[in-house]
Amino acid sequence: MKQYVLALDAGTTSSRAILFDKDATIVDVAQQEFTQIYPHPGWVEHDANEIFDTQKKVIEQVLGKHSPQQINSIGITNQRETAVVWNKQTHEPICNAIVWQDRRTAEYCNSIKEAWSKKIQSKTGLVIDAYFSATKLKYILENVEGARTLADQGNLAFGTVDTWLLYKLTQGRLHATDATNASRTMMYNIHTNEWDDELLTLFNIPKSCLPKVLDSSDDYGTTTLFGGEIPIRGVAGDQQSALFGQQCTQSGMVKNTYGTGCFMLMHTGEKAFESKHNLLTTIALRLNGKTQYALEGSVFVAGSLIQWLRDELKMIDDASKIEALARKVSDSGGVFIVPAFAGLGAPHWNQDARGSIFGLTRGSNQSHIARAALESIVYQSAELIDCMHKDSGIEIKELRVDGGAVVNDLMMQLQADCIGVNVLRPKVIETTALGAAYLAGLYTGFFDAAEISKNWKIDQSFTSTDNKNLNIQGFKKAVEATKFFAS
Ligand code: ADP
Repeated sequence: MKQYVLALDAGTTSSRAILFDKDATIVDVAQQEFTQIYPHPGWVEHDANEIFDTQKKVIEQVLGKHSPQQINSIGITNQRETAVVWNKQTHEPICNAIVWQDRRTAEYCNSIKEAWSKKIQSKTGLVIDAYFSATKLKYILENVEGARTLADQGNLAFGTVDTWLLYKLTQGRLHATDATNASRTMMYNIHTNEWDDELLTLFNIPKSCLPKVLDSSDDYGTTTLFGGEIPIRGVAGDQQSALFGQQCTQSGMVKNTYGTGCFMLMHTGEKAFESKHNLLTTIALRLNGKTQYALEGSVFVAGSLIQWLRDELKMIDDASKIEALARKVSDSGGVFIVPAFAGLGAPHWNQDARGSIFGLTRGSNQSHIARAALESIVYQSAELIDCMHKDSGIEIKELRVDGGAVVNDLMMQLQADCIGVNVLRPKVIETTALGAAYLAGLYTGFFDAAEISKNWKIDQSFTSTDNKNLNIQGFKKAVEATKFFAS
């Protein structure tokens, strides 16, 4: 009896295997962390073999309790942009994977901005940045011994983490990725759905090392590594998977994930809007050969601000205590925090800005700081929503939320008040893994499209109120002052 779909969530710090049943309920989870490698300041690497080994172990842990015969299919979701390069003959990586956070190619990116920004934005939807895979692959081709020769022989393979896992799970039978992952490489034309020859020439990347690009719900072969044959039928990058897990499938539907940072995506249907506010245009999904698009923006520091208050200022001993502390006051007493620990993301894109606190008086206390911290997360997210609205002209009707920090009811209420629409927190907040499970199960018929939208259930709805204690204009002023201080 095929009663489950297995989602593989290949994250930045851990590999997870999550088993879902037909009602989208989690039946079992296994998780294993892997090593973060920091060879130089600003460099971040992973050992691709360790990524696969930990992923394999967590699958085995889950299948140890439930047999492979019970698994309808596998769906994969993954940290995006990270570049893995391996030898097609030995299936061995030729170097460590270069992780999305790695900044080693920042200087090169700056050097091509003037000439290429417009073109790269119009083809790939992206702002030129070291995050995206292209310059990481270029770096490997130029700096890892033997890489170029292997590429010339047609024996070199590049992939994001999904592609690497697919290759290993199918024992080299499939070198493929899905359109959402391809859209984060800065080599893929999101409008024509092809690897872009002009960009490949710019980065001097041979097409022979690139994976073929499939729909997000598609035939990704089978794995026989766990006894029996398990079909792999869904793949999507983590944020797109979360968007689908939240069932944001129509134009104008938005989700925001509140974790270390915030990731906000707005579905824009089959229309790709070019951003005038430094948001990214990205592929939301490709289903049945039809490409759906999204606008994406991120807040670099969100939950990590709460960690800072906990670990550095010792204001709280647990992140969960921030809410009670903030509730002791009804407003921030004129205090604003701009948590630009590592610069500012969209719409500001200022690498030099650093964190600041404004408006302190002799009466400012911990509760004011706590409240200002929560408000800063809310204000930054509101700025993204505003940009999405301006870029697309689409009215946003509600915000669906997930991530570890959404347990904070006060923050969710403030978010609803600040953006003027209701914030909806679903029952299942494991939306990333759920999205991948849905993609796989939709292909096989395990899930039905109408049924899964009914599975999305509200845990709590935060109704927007007219909250006079919020002051986004004050926050914007603080951001401008922060930028000025960095100039
Ligand atoms: P990630 O996946 O980015 O590691 P999670 O989704 O696990 O993050 O969320 C953890 C983050 O949420 C941490 O940064 C933590 O500080 C923050 N967080 C946890 N509980 C709360 C809370 N009650 N209020 C605000 N932030 C919280």
